[in-house]
Amino acid sequence: MPARVLALLAAAVLQAPPRGPAPRLVVHITIDQFRADYLDRWRPQLSGGLARLLRQGAVFAEAYQDHAMSETAPGHATVLSGRNPWSTGIVRNSLGVTDNNETGELLDVNGPGASPWRFRGTALFDWMQARWPDARALSVSRKDRGAILPVGRARQQVYWYQSGQFTTSRYYADSLPRWVRDFNAALVPARAPGRRWDLLLDAAAYAEPDSMDYEHGGRDFVFPHVLPRDSAAAADALVGTPWVDSLTLALALDGVSQLRLGSAGHPDLLAVSLSATDYVGHAFGPDSREIHDQVLRVDRYLGAFLDSLDRLVGPDGYVVSVTADHGVTSYPEYASRHGHPEAQWLNPVGLFRVDSAALAQRLGPHRWLRFFETGLLVVDRPGLVSHGVDVDSVVRSIAAEMRRYPQVLRVDTPESLAAADTATDAVARRWLHAVPPDVPAVLMVTLKPHMAWGSGDEAQHGQPTDDDTHVPLIIAGPGVKPGRYAGRVQVADLGPTVAALVGVVPLERLDGRVLSEALAR
Ligand SMILES: [Zn+2]
Repeated sequence: MPARVLALLAAAVLQAPPRGPAPRLVVHITIDQFRADYLDRWRPQLSGGLARLLRQGAVFAEAYQDHAMSETAPGHATVLSGRNPWSTGIVRNSLGVTDNNETGELLDVNGPGASPWRFRGTALFDWMQARWPDARALSVSRKDRGAILPVGRARQQVYWYQSGQFTTSRYYADSLPRWVRDFNAALVPARAPGRRWDLLLDAAAYAEPDSMDYEHGGRDFVFPHVLPRDSAAAADALVGTPWVDSLTLALALDGVSQLRLGSAGHPDLLAVSLSATDYVGHAFGPDSREIHDQVLRVDRYLGAFLDSLDRLVGPDGYVVSVTADHGVTSYPEYASRHGHPEAQWLNPVGLFRVDSAALAQRLGPHRWLRFFETGLLVVDRPGLVSHGVDVDSVVRSIAAEMRRYPQVLRVDTPESLAAADTATDAVARRWLHAVPPDVPAVLMVTLKPHMAWGSGDEAQHGQPTDDDTHVPLIIAGPGVKPGRYAGRVQVADLGPTVAALVGVVPLERLDGRVLSEALAR
């Protein structure tokens, strides 16, 4: 046989799908507000699921949620859709899953309604269902947006925690299934009142000082943290503790058993979002003893969770991926004492003179312009023009005012972004990845490193900086080539990569690519 034909045959073999049976379950875990450097910082103390995944998985050390306005809703919409917010339409938390009372009404509990009504396009589960119409998905989180957005618009089993129990909305079901009601009755109320959050390890294992008075609004910033005795207050306070993550994982495992996920001869999907790291990170910051302890606990919980999945679907029965929706910036109070004396807050309220209130006084009540605390200014241009307002001049004057703040790195316009070199200018690229074409954005404001939007009450994220966008990305299971991968990748690569692993094809054009370097062929 000629050498050229042999080479072609070899190439065909190399491109063949992974051998062996397809995994029975696709498991995806998003850890809310988890910086990539946490894994390195506390690596010697990790002994559970994170340690196992670092050992057995394909570990992408340079993975980014490669978009501006790095918040929970846009991050979760990206994890399994293969697309950035400009394409999913999920731009910010405040423009995320809430505000649609028609379909978002909660079952059995009061709370903000939620549904994926703003999510555009498809996600991994839709691609799975296109191949296997009977495929099922279970998605659970403490937060509505953490549960809803990873499965896109699919009307599957989607549950989140509200006021002491897991619930869903009318978008998904008319009533809570028996197994979820039983779970709520058996587990949730009994766990909370009076419970003490103490250090997992000996205090000497924590390099971080405990008593930093800027943490947690200046109250209860030292271990132990004790939940209220009152059961309703404790059920609400539970969301600020590691235990809400163990509850979320317990519900996920219960669901895998009760729904017999992975038992029907094709893969099903289990998506889990763990929210406590976000609460602890906001309250105490990424340099706190609390976040250190929280990361160790997530590691231990995930260890038990993966051991249980081994028993339920077999160690080779599932692929598992882990990433985060965003990172977080240090408290400026911390940064300013640790090598960045310039670090400070910038309160997004009242930053410029011609604001929405001033325009409303002049032109009548309406949101003539909105400035979001993640740095985006949008205007109602046609409305303002119809009132004779010179919009460009207003925008220019706001830009000039913003540039005078010492915290501000740059103020972009759609024109400046269009002219940027997106290969070398990460800030421009991340803004372009963040804003859909139909959002009337006029200014994009980026702060300098170590600066934060806010008034100092909690640590923040949401900027196009590496602090807020650099996240873990690990994939493990049959068909994955373990190892550490140093190339720069984006979280939008995860959806198409898992799709390739299980043998399904995306139904639309994606931002992400298949991370084929990590696939065994
Ligand atoms: Zn988040």
